[in-house]
Amino acid sequence: MSEEPRNANVDPAELAKFSALAHRWWDPASEFRPLHEINPLRLGWIDERAALAGKRVLDVGCGGGILAEAMARRGAQVTGIDLSERALKVAGLHLIESRLAVEYEKIAAEDLAVREPAGFDVVTCMEMLEHVPDPASTVRACAALLKPGGHAFFATINRNPKSYLFAIVGAEYVLKLLPKGTHDYAHFIKPSELSSFCRDAGLAPEGLIGMTYNPLTKIYSLGRDTDVNYILHVRKE
Ligand code: SAH
Repeated sequence: MSEEPRNANVDPAELAKFSALAHRWWDPASEFRPLHEINPLRLGWIDERAALAGKRVLDVGCGGGILAEAMARRGAQVTGIDLSERALKVAGLHLIESRLAVEYEKIAAEDLAVREPAGFDVVTCMEMLEHVPDPASTVRACAALLKPGGHAFFATINRNPKSYLFAIVGAEYVLKLLPKGTHDYAHFIKPSELSSFCRDAGLAPEGLIGMTYNPLTKIYSLGRDTDVNYILHVRKE
């Protein structure tokens, strides 16, 4: 299947990794288990801060639609975009089962920003920036897609020795929560770097929260520890 990207800000090898596993996206025991497990946490934080009901929401890099569907269930009018055709196919098929209305489209954020500038109240972009060549460009596109005063949420992985140990050695090699090669340390992004991409794009930081995993209890939680996974909330000025 061709994953022909029109936009330069995409790594076809990254898309191929997600496409190869896409049929298992909704299997909570699959490689996507961590996304299923963190979903209620991130959904709660986003909804608390952006009051999703009735809002026009864009999920950038939506994959199989785990967060997109959950936001639709909270009453948001959700559009999900991704560049993996297979992931989008799975997302579309899952709507039959969930009976939710989400619009899915294969388009780059940069291209949608040209077609629908200031089209959305809320933009979410979770666990995607560490897979693109130029995350600042994605952030700028998300900013352009937001209405003034709109909220954006970016979730990614911090870059430091602890995040290398936890997100790569721990998650991929020891606990085997994720397939080996899922993440590349060089693409991890410090909260300070992400905040500066945001400020440069006219997005003001509003809040930062960490997501941690306890391997003994196998429980994920939100808290002050942003050393590994984190979510940044920003607002368009
Ligand atoms: N946001 C979803 C999926 C995360 S997995 C969630 O958190 O549940 C990362 C996703 O980013 C995959 O679906 C992959 O296809 C997508 N992706 C990678 N590079 C992309 C790009 N340049 N543009 C859009 N989506 C991309």
